[in-house]
Amino acid sequence: AESAPSDYLRGLNPEQRQAVETTEGPVLVLAGAGTGKTRVLTTRIAHILATGRAFPSQILAVTFTNKAAREMKTRIGSLVGEAVEGMPWLGTFHSIGVKLLRRHAELAGLRSDFTILDTDDVNRLIKQLIQAENLDEKRWPARQFSGMIDGWKNKGQGPKDISEGDARAFANGKGRQLYTAYQERLKTLNACDFGDLLLHPIRIFREHPDVLREYHRKFKYILVDEYQDTNTAQYMWLRLLAQRPKERDTSDAKNLTAEGRKPDRASADQAAPAEASEQSERAAVSANQLQQINICCVGDDDQSIYGWRGAEVDNILRFEKDFPGATVIKLERNYRSTAHILGAASHLIAHNEDRLGKTLFTEAPDPEDPKVNVQAGWDSEEEARIVGETIETLQRRGHKLNDIAILVRASFQMREFEDRFVTLGLNYRVIGGPRFYERLEIRDAMAFFRVVASASDDLAFERIVNVPKRGLGEATIRQIHDTSRAMGIPMLEAAGELAESDEIKPKPRAALREVVANFSRWQKLLETLPHTELAEQILEESGYTAMWKNDRSAEAPGRLENLKELIRSMEDYESLRSFLEHVALVMDAEQNEDLDAVSLMTLHSAKGLEFETVFLPGWEEGLFPHQRALDEGGRAGLEEERRLAYVGLTRAKRNLYLNFVSNRRIHGLWQTTIPSRFLDELPEKHVEVIESSNSYGGYGSGGFKGRHNPYGASRFDKAAASQPFSSSYGTPGWQRAQANRTDATRNNWGMRSGHAVERIGYGET
Ligand code: ATP
Ligand code: MG
Repeated sequence: AESAPSDYLRGLNPEQRQAVETTEGPVLVLAGAGTGKTRVLTTRIAHILATGRAFPSQILAVTFTNKAAREMKTRIGSLVGEAVEGMPWLGTFHSIGVKLLRRHAELAGLRSDFTILDTDDVNRLIKQLIQAENLDEKRWPARQFSGMIDGWKNKGQGPKDISEGDARAFANGKGRQLYTAYQERLKTLNACDFGDLLLHPIRIFREHPDVLREYHRKFKYILVDEYQDTNTAQYMWLRLLAQRPKERDTSDAKNLTAEGRKPDRASADQAAPAEASEQSERAAVSANQLQQINICCVGDDDQSIYGWRGAEVDNILRFEKDFPGATVIKLERNYRSTAHILGAASHLIAHNEDRLGKTLFTEAPDPEDPKVNVQAGWDSEEEARIVGETIETLQRRGHKLNDIAILVRASFQMREFEDRFVTLGLNYRVIGGPRFYERLEIRDAMAFFRVVASASDDLAFERIVNVPKRGLGEATIRQIHDTSRAMGIPMLEAAGELAESDEIKPKPRAALREVVANFSRWQKLLETLPHTELAEQILEESGYTAMWKNDRSAEAPGRLENLKELIRSMEDYESLRSFLEHVALVMDAEQNEDLDAVSLMTLHSAKGLEFETVFLPGWEEGLFPHQRALDEGGRAGLEEERRLAYVGLTRAKRNLYLNFVSNRRIHGLWQTTIPSRFLDELPEKHVEVIESSNSYGGYGSGGFKGRHNPYGASRFDKAAASQPFSSSYGTPGWQRAQANRTDATRNNWGMRSGHAVERIGYGET
């Protein structure tokens, strides 16, 4: 069956086919977006299964998201049918890590029914440890330390491995001690955090060579997608599994694996006992070649976008060193996008200095192909309107909503689109995260507002009575419940009763008194204070904003941005009540998997995906590239932002729309913005400017007129003619005019540009 080219191989180009058929030995596929890397991985698995090289359970395949794992499974199934049954080891690093750890929990001092703590649990635990040390919690917030632990774990560092400097950086040098105490505490609780899902297996593999050997025998083929975004811990984990004992050439390998152990043939023969009975001859043969490292990693250095989370693009660059004799395969034909899209993306990414550089080509441009559209708008509201109208136009022309995606730089940008879609009755779904109003911080904030608007909203009250943590434990909350039920009054009122009685201990009583006093004050202000101001005051006075400000986790800045956007969105409503009604309606919008719906997500979660039509809103300096990335990362930060832009552009197959606005309203204040430098970096010949009818003229009714007028006589030109402009960017005509436009606006407004977005939020906000 092996010699005749099977169906699944047909249609692959020669390089792809080589990547699929080079099953033995290390293989690196280093190739640009849309060249079929993921397709190669999928077909490779199908090939391994169809030719009997391994059983599904002997393949370890790592994807970046659970969604990608599911898709891969489906695709393999469609290639080889039943044979895919199983594939128990296809998943993300975390999901595979859990599985490994459950099997060997005792070696990490845990029981196999250990629990995985979420961020909240982790913070609570660390807070206790900080208190136990009599440290000032204000000075040394738990959330900061949990962020540090996360960073260490991403680097594969346990308490003993962290540097002196790192240990000194927290709590007057108590960093290491606290980290040790934290790990011990986890053990006592029979629990682990996310980082442990990788770190424990790494330690187990290092300390128990017999266990590692078991997996060396088990996994005949290892495959990794999105290799450019692996962090150090993931890299160590992979190398342990991939570096077989026979390799004694690098000292590195010795450190990482069971030192110098001879591969033993006897154990190789007992490979995978459960499957031994069905083992074909062919599989038995390959079981005897265990020393071979059959690892295949695919990736694209230009799409490395998780540096802020500890990803090391270097991992991909040193693959050949790590796995001597590796076959490196380049794929150069992009099958996804039109020549315009690919031309724009390639031109943009060429501005990065830090890259390997790759060739990428696609079919010759079809004159029918649309150019990359750039749409200008006045503000974010108009942006959402323009996008909404464009989508409706596409829909009228027969496009499916499922083929359309909106990819934002920061999650707060979603709010405007979600609201707009609900108004238009367009179905949408948020991928890789909750919808705006479903986000944790938004739900919390809304719960405060709901109680203020309606004192009997017990569900809302219960949600936030102890947020931020104020020492109201379960017992107290049960008492409030009981009182409320017994007296037939709302919980808030019951809390008021309890706060004045001596049924509860002084500390929670004082806390309750404060909560009750707060709400009664806010309720009074409801009549007198504009609701947006009141909302801000509530979040401040309740300590809710401060809670996130003290949080050093990677998500915190994005959460703060979302809270600001929430307040912003309230401005469009007359009262708190009408706003709450609006949100209830938005929340009611269906989010059904089968529904034909527009996809809304961050650029980070769009990795690996593709859509017929893609909108990329918010291409303004400060938002994209994000100010914080520039401030903190310098040139490297800018380059990571540019890679993110590259990922965004290359998600589109045919229609690509870039949007920018000249004003964003932050905190009720208008801020003038200038177009993203990334727009300047797009080649003119692939770009077309679609001018909104009122993007600069005035601020009024619906904008998108679809005027296809790239560099012709538009207001852009008038602006350019009347006002000679020397650009620091050295840009083509329309862009210069564009920049000029906003420059003029800026002057009129007497504002400095580039502060469109406050300096919060970095990475996947
Ligand atoms: P990314 O870097 O964005 O993850 P990728 O390199 O993984 O991209 P794939 O998603 O595997 O690319 O493929 C991109 C698109 O091209 C898919 O729709 C895929 O089915 C198609 N494709 C890949 N190879 C071929 C081929 N040989 N013939 C036709 N279509 C192909
Ligand atoms: Mg891919």
